[in-house]
Amino acid sequence: MGAGLRWPVLGAALAACLLAGRATAAELPIFDAHVHYSHDAWDSLPPKDAVAILRQAGLKRAVVSSSGDEGTQRLLAEAPDLVVPSLRPYRRRGDVGTWVRDDTVVAFLEQRLAQGRYAAIGEFHVYGADADLPVPRRLVALAKQHQLILHAHSDADAIGRLFQQDPQARILWAHSGFEGPEPVRDMLRKHRNLWCDLAFRSDQGAAGKVPAEWRAVFTEFPDRFMVGTDTFTPERWHYIVEHARWSRAWLADLPPALAERIAWRNGEALFAGWVPAPPK
Ligand SMILES: [Zn+2]
Repeated sequence: MGAGLRWPVLGAALAACLLAGRATAAELPIFDAHVHYSHDAWDSLPPKDAVAILRQAGLKRAVVSSSGDEGTQRLLAEAPDLVVPSLRPYRRRGDVGTWVRDDTVVAFLEQRLAQGRYAAIGEFHVYGADADLPVPRRLVALAKQHQLILHAHSDADAIGRLFQQDPQARILWAHSGFEGPEPVRDMLRKHRNLWCDLAFRSDQGAAGKVPAEWRAVFTEFPDRFMVGTDTFTPERWHYIVEHARWSRAWLADLPPALAERIAWRNGEALFAGWVPAPPK
Protein backbone atom coordinates (compact mmCIF):
# COMPACT_ATOMS: atom_id res chain seq x y z
CA MET A 1 0.00 0.00 0.00
CA GLY A 2 1.43 3.41 -0.98
CA ALA A 3 1.78 6.35 1.40
CA GLY A 4 -0.91 8.20 -0.48
CA LEU A 5 -3.39 5.50 0.40
CA ARG A 6 -2.33 4.87 3.96
CA TRP A 7 -3.12 8.33 5.36
CA PRO A 8 -6.73 8.55 4.16
CA VAL A 9 -7.33 5.10 5.68
CA LEU A 10 -5.87 6.18 9.01
CA GLY A 11 -7.87 9.39 8.84
CA ALA A 12 -11.07 7.46 8.34
CA ALA A 13 -10.28 5.17 11.27
CA LEU A 14 -9.60 8.17 13.47
CA ALA A 15 -12.83 9.83 12.39
CA ALA A 16 -14.72 6.63 13.22
CA CYS A 17 -13.16 6.63 16.70
CA LEU A 18 -14.11 10.25 17.24
CA LEU A 19 -17.65 9.61 16.07
CA ALA A 20 -17.91 6.72 18.52
CA GLY A 21 -16.67 9.05 21.26
CA ARG A 22 -13.85 6.68 22.05
CA ALA A 23 -10.76 8.54 20.90
CA THR A 24 -9.51 9.09 24.45
CA ALA A 25 -10.52 5.70 25.76
CA ALA A 26 -8.82 3.98 22.82
CA GLU A 27 -5.51 5.30 24.11
CA LEU A 28 -6.14 4.36 27.74
CA PRO A 29 -3.21 2.61 29.32
CA ILE A 30 -4.25 -0.51 31.21
CA PHE A 31 -2.97 -1.75 34.55
CA ASP A 32 -3.67 -5.50 34.38
CA ALA A 33 -4.00 -6.70 37.96
CA HIS A 34 -4.35 -10.40 37.23
CA VAL A 35 -1.75 -12.16 35.08
CA HIS A 36 -0.26 -15.62 35.67
CA TYR A 37 2.83 -16.98 33.95
CA SER A 38 2.90 -20.53 35.26
CA HIS A 39 5.27 -23.35 34.40
CA ASP A 40 3.18 -24.66 31.53
CA ALA A 41 2.98 -21.15 30.00
CA TRP A 42 6.69 -20.44 29.87
CA ASP A 43 7.33 -23.71 28.10
CA SER A 44 5.30 -22.58 25.10
CA LEU A 45 5.71 -18.81 25.40
CA PRO A 46 9.25 -17.61 26.23
CA PRO A 47 9.61 -14.46 28.39
CA LYS A 48 10.53 -12.23 25.42
CA ASP A 49 7.37 -13.22 23.55
CA ALA A 50 5.25 -12.88 26.69
CA VAL A 51 6.53 -9.34 27.28
CA ALA A 52 5.87 -8.50 23.61
CA ILE A 53 2.22 -9.44 24.19
CA LEU A 54 2.00 -7.26 27.32
CA ARG A 55 3.43 -4.29 25.39
CA GLN A 56 1.24 -4.91 22.36
CA ALA A 57 -1.78 -4.77 24.68
CA GLY A 58 -0.72 -1.30 25.80
CA LEU A 59 -0.32 -2.36 29.40
CA LYS A 60 1.23 0.16 31.72
CA ARG A 61 2.01 -2.54 34.25
CA ALA A 62 0.84 -6.05 35.12
CA VAL A 63 0.65 -7.85 38.45
CA VAL A 64 2.17 -11.23 37.64
CA SER A 65 2.17 -14.39 39.72
CA SER A 66 2.90 -17.96 38.78
CA SER A 67 2.66 -21.48 40.07
CA GLY A 68 6.32 -22.12 40.49
CA ASP A 69 7.58 -18.59 41.18
CA GLU A 70 10.21 -19.00 38.46
CA GLY A 71 7.86 -17.70 35.74
CA THR A 72 7.32 -14.42 37.57
CA GLN A 73 11.07 -14.00 38.08
CA ARG A 74 11.81 -14.64 34.40
CA LEU A 75 9.23 -12.13 33.30
CA LEU A 76 10.42 -9.58 35.86
CA ALA A 77 14.00 -9.92 34.62
CA GLU A 78 12.78 -9.36 31.06
CA ALA A 79 10.65 -6.29 31.85
CA PRO A 80 11.25 -4.74 35.27
CA ASP A 81 9.35 -1.62 34.21
CA LEU A 82 6.24 -3.65 33.41
CA VAL A 83 6.02 -6.52 35.87
CA VAL A 84 4.76 -6.13 39.44
CA PRO A 85 5.71 -9.44 41.07
CA SER A 86 3.36 -11.34 43.36
CA LEU A 87 4.29 -14.55 45.19
CA ARG A 88 1.87 -17.44 44.87
CA PRO A 89 1.83 -20.11 47.57
CA TYR A 90 1.80 -22.68 44.76
CA ARG A 91 4.80 -24.58 43.49
CA ARG A 92 2.74 -26.35 40.86
CA ARG A 93 -0.79 -26.22 39.51
CA GLY A 94 -2.06 -28.96 41.84
CA ASP A 95 -1.30 -26.90 44.97
CA VAL A 96 -4.40 -24.75 44.36
CA GLY A 97 -6.69 -27.15 46.19
CA THR A 98 -4.33 -28.48 48.86
CA TRP A 99 -2.11 -25.58 50.01
CA VAL A 100 -4.32 -24.55 52.97
CA ARG A 101 -3.47 -27.83 54.72
CA ASP A 102 0.09 -28.22 53.45
CA ASP A 103 2.71 -27.13 56.01
CA THR A 104 5.51 -27.24 53.44
CA VAL A 105 3.95 -24.18 51.75
CA VAL A 106 5.08 -22.06 54.70
CA ALA A 107 8.74 -22.94 54.19
CA PHE A 108 8.38 -22.23 50.46
CA LEU A 109 6.95 -18.76 51.16
CA GLU A 110 9.54 -17.95 53.81
CA GLN A 111 12.42 -19.00 51.61
CA ARG A 112 11.15 -17.00 48.61
CA LEU A 113 10.48 -13.91 50.71
CA ALA A 114 13.98 -14.10 52.19
CA GLN A 115 15.54 -14.21 48.73
CA GLY A 116 13.42 -11.93 46.56
CA ARG A 117 11.32 -8.78 46.54
CA TYR A 118 7.59 -8.85 45.96
CA ALA A 119 4.67 -6.44 45.91
CA ALA A 120 2.02 -8.97 46.91
CA ILE A 121 1.23 -12.51 47.97
CA GLY A 122 -1.26 -14.33 45.74
CA GLU A 123 -3.29 -15.02 43.90
CA PHE A 124 -4.30 -17.73 46.36
CA HIS A 125 -7.61 -19.56 46.72
CA VAL A 126 -9.29 -19.88 50.11
CA TYR A 127 -12.93 -20.13 51.11
CA GLY A 128 -14.92 -19.78 54.31
CA ALA A 129 -13.47 -21.13 57.56
CA ASP A 130 -10.39 -22.51 55.77
CA ALA A 131 -9.02 -18.95 55.93
CA ASP A 132 -8.44 -19.52 59.66
CA LEU A 133 -6.34 -22.68 59.20
CA PRO A 134 -2.69 -22.39 60.31
CA VAL A 135 -1.16 -22.14 56.81
CA PRO A 136 -3.36 -19.24 55.59
CA ARG A 137 -2.84 -17.57 58.97
CA ARG A 138 0.89 -17.76 58.48
CA LEU A 139 0.52 -16.37 54.96
CA VAL A 140 -1.38 -13.34 56.32
CA ALA A 141 1.29 -12.84 58.99
CA LEU A 142 4.05 -12.96 56.37
CA ALA A 143 2.22 -10.41 54.23
CA LYS A 144 1.98 -8.14 57.27
CA GLN A 145 5.64 -8.60 58.14
CA HIS A 146 6.77 -7.82 54.57
CA GLN A 147 4.06 -5.19 53.96
CA LEU A 148 2.62 -7.06 50.99
CA ILE A 149 -0.83 -6.85 49.46
CA LEU A 150 -2.94 -10.02 49.62
CA HIS A 151 -4.47 -11.13 46.31
CA ALA A 152 -7.28 -13.42 47.40
CA HIS A 153 -9.62 -15.55 45.30
CA SER A 154 -12.18 -15.98 48.08
CA ASP A 155 -15.77 -15.72 49.13
CA ALA A 156 -16.90 -12.82 51.30
CA ASP A 157 -16.68 -14.97 54.43
CA ALA A 158 -12.99 -15.73 53.92
CA ILE A 159 -12.22 -12.07 53.13
CA GLY A 160 -13.80 -11.12 56.47
CA ARG A 161 -11.67 -13.71 58.26
CA LEU A 162 -8.47 -12.44 56.62
CA PHE A 163 -9.29 -8.91 57.80
CA GLN A 164 -9.97 -10.25 61.29
CA GLN A 165 -6.47 -11.71 61.37
CA ASP A 166 -4.95 -8.41 60.26
CA PRO A 167 -7.29 -5.39 60.28
CA GLN A 168 -4.56 -3.35 58.56
CA ALA A 169 -4.21 -5.84 55.69
CA ARG A 170 -4.65 -4.56 52.15
CA ILE A 171 -6.61 -7.10 50.14
CA LEU A 172 -7.15 -7.23 46.39
CA TRP A 173 -10.28 -9.34 45.95
CA ALA A 174 -9.75 -11.45 42.84
CA HIS A 175 -12.71 -11.42 40.43
CA SER A 176 -14.56 -9.30 43.03
CA GLY A 177 -15.39 -12.70 44.47
CA PHE A 178 -17.56 -13.41 41.39
CA GLU A 179 -20.24 -11.57 43.38
CA GLY A 180 -22.90 -9.26 41.98
CA PRO A 181 -22.64 -5.47 42.33
CA GLU A 182 -24.67 -5.24 45.57
CA PRO A 183 -22.64 -7.73 47.65
CA VAL A 184 -19.45 -6.17 46.28
CA ARG A 185 -20.69 -2.73 47.33
CA ASP A 186 -21.53 -4.04 50.82
CA MET A 187 -18.02 -5.47 51.20
CA LEU A 188 -16.43 -2.21 50.08
CA ARG A 189 -18.53 -0.27 52.58
CA LYS A 190 -17.44 -2.64 55.32
CA HIS A 191 -13.72 -2.86 54.51
CA ARG A 192 -11.70 0.28 53.92
CA ASN A 193 -8.64 -1.66 52.71
CA LEU A 194 -10.42 -3.80 50.15
CA TRP A 195 -9.84 -3.41 46.41
CA CYS A 196 -11.49 -5.46 43.67
CA ASP A 197 -10.24 -6.80 40.37
CA LEU A 198 -12.73 -7.49 37.61
CA ALA A 199 -10.77 -10.35 36.07
CA PHE A 200 -12.52 -13.10 34.14
CA ARG A 201 -15.95 -11.58 34.34
CA SER A 202 -17.92 -9.62 31.78
CA ASP A 203 -21.20 -8.62 33.46
CA GLN A 204 -19.79 -5.16 34.27
CA GLY A 205 -19.29 -4.26 30.61
CA ALA A 206 -20.89 -6.69 28.18
CA ALA A 207 -21.36 -5.20 24.70
CA GLY A 208 -19.52 -2.04 25.76
CA LYS A 209 -22.22 -0.97 28.24
CA VAL A 210 -21.94 -0.64 32.01
CA PRO A 211 -25.22 -1.69 33.68
CA ALA A 212 -26.75 0.80 36.12
CA GLU A 213 -26.04 -1.40 39.18
CA TRP A 214 -22.33 -1.57 38.40
CA ARG A 215 -22.16 2.09 37.44
CA ALA A 216 -23.54 2.97 40.90
CA VAL A 217 -20.85 0.89 42.66
CA PHE A 218 -18.03 2.27 40.48
CA THR A 219 -19.29 5.79 41.20
CA GLU A 220 -19.51 5.20 44.96
CA PHE A 221 -16.04 3.60 45.05
CA PRO A 222 -14.10 5.13 42.15
CA ASP A 223 -10.72 4.25 43.63
CA ARG A 224 -11.24 0.55 44.45
CA PHE A 225 -11.61 -1.26 41.12
CA MET A 226 -9.14 -2.46 38.53
CA VAL A 227 -9.23 -4.75 35.49
CA GLY A 228 -7.42 -8.03 34.91
CA THR A 229 -7.17 -10.73 32.27
CA ASP A 230 -6.45 -13.83 34.40
CA THR A 231 -4.19 -16.01 32.27
CA PHE A 232 -4.91 -19.13 34.33
CA THR A 233 -4.18 -21.36 31.33
CA PRO A 234 -1.37 -20.81 28.81
CA GLU A 235 -3.86 -20.28 25.94
CA ARG A 236 -5.26 -17.22 27.69
CA TRP A 237 -2.00 -15.36 27.10
CA HIS A 238 -3.21 -14.83 23.56
CA TYR A 239 -6.30 -13.11 24.96
CA ILE A 240 -4.41 -10.33 26.80
CA VAL A 241 -4.44 -7.89 23.86
CA GLU A 242 -8.11 -8.55 23.17
CA HIS A 243 -8.94 -8.18 26.85
CA ALA A 244 -7.29 -4.74 27.00
CA ARG A 245 -9.25 -3.69 23.92
CA TRP A 246 -12.50 -5.06 25.38
CA SER A 247 -11.84 -3.25 28.69
CA ARG A 248 -11.28 0.06 26.92
CA ALA A 249 -14.60 -0.40 25.11
CA TRP A 250 -16.73 -0.74 28.25
CA LEU A 251 -14.68 1.80 30.20
CA ALA A 252 -15.56 4.33 27.47
CA ASP A 253 -19.15 4.08 28.72
CA LEU A 254 -18.03 5.72 32.00
CA PRO A 255 -16.99 9.36 32.62
CA PRO A 256 -13.34 9.66 31.44
CA ALA A 257 -11.91 10.37 34.92
CA LEU A 258 -13.60 7.27 36.37
CA ALA A 259 -12.55 5.16 33.38
CA GLU A 260 -8.93 6.21 33.87
CA ARG A 261 -9.03 5.22 37.51
CA ILE A 262 -10.35 1.75 36.82
CA ALA A 263 -8.11 1.30 33.78
CA TRP A 264 -4.83 2.10 35.51
CA ARG A 265 -4.74 4.77 38.18
CA ASN A 266 -6.16 2.57 40.96
CA GLY A 267 -3.67 -0.19 40.23
CA GLU A 268 -0.81 2.28 40.17
CA ALA A 269 -1.98 3.77 43.48
CA LEU A 270 -2.41 0.43 45.26
CA PHE A 271 0.97 -0.84 44.07
CA ALA A 272 2.77 2.51 44.42
CA GLY A 273 5.03 0.95 47.05
CA TRP A 274 6.57 -1.36 44.43
CA VAL A 275 9.70 0.17 42.97
CA PRO A 276 11.61 -1.93 40.46
CA ALA A 277 15.25 -2.65 41.28
CA PRO A 278 17.65 -0.24 39.54
CA PRO A 279 19.26 -1.72 36.42
CA LYS A 280 22.55 -3.48 37.12
ZN1 LIG B 1 -6.08 -16.06 38.75
